[in-house]
Amino acid sequence: MKTLIAANWKMFKTWEEGVITAREILVGTHKDLPEDREVLIIPPFTLLKGVGEILLSQKNYSLGGQNFYPAKEGAFTGEISPVQLLDLGCSYALVGHSERRHILGEKSDFLASKVKAGLEAGLKIIFCIGETLEERKAGKIKEVLTSQLEEGLKEVEKNLAPELLTIAYEPVWAIGTGEVAGEEDILEAHALIRDWLKNRFASGDKMRILYGGSVKPDNAAKILSLDNVNGVLVGGASLKAESFNQIILA
Ligand code: PEP
Repeated sequence: MKTLIAANWKMFKTWEEGVITAREILVGTHKDLPEDREVLIIPPFTLLKGVGEILLSQKNYSLGGQNFYPAKEGAFTGEISPVQLLDLGCSYALVGHSERRHILGEKSDFLASKVKAGLEAGLKIIFCIGETLEERKAGKIKEVLTSQLEEGLKEVEKNLAPELLTIAYEPVWAIGTGEVAGEEDILEAHALIRDWLKNRFASGDKMRILYGGSVKPDNAAKILSLDNVNGVLVGGASLKAESFNQIILA
């Protein structure tokens, strides 16, 4: 399994800014990119075409969508379908990001239907989970992560090919706050997720588990060296090629 270094650009960047950053990322990393590393850029929809044109001819550089609606097509004003993401060169999509759970109000049944529809269409799904600070303080990490996994992935078949599903552990309190989970916290959460995946899927030992939450150039190498960490999902530090390139090559 290749280590996945993923950039979530959220609702940032105009066309020109995005295209320039994508070029800087490619130029700054493609010569030194280790064979066992994959770079994934997840820009806003408006930039999928522009970023795709820059990255997709290169081996080990992929494109992803931040969101989609669980239907092939239809009267869903403002939404985008998995087929439309694939059409623009996306091979991945995020589901369950904490901003969609907590700001946009997406609930577990809806997330489960998105995972199912995305996989059926042929997208690789990065399913994000993570506890809030209150849940952590109440000692509920295991309970929260387990129920997010069980509910969100309830429609997925046991024999799913491992490359089609990646879990991103993103403690809500560490996203965009500059606060990184400690090594012990990451090890514990990732071990718990690995056990759950092994019990639930035939190839759960081969599915990737990413860490996300204030990953920066100075902590990326350490985080990537931890057991059961198979990549990182990066928000803020992925917006500038200067910092994201250091994480890619960390
Ligand atoms: C994210 O958006 O998934 C994220 C981890 O953001 P940041 O790196 O800014 O914490």
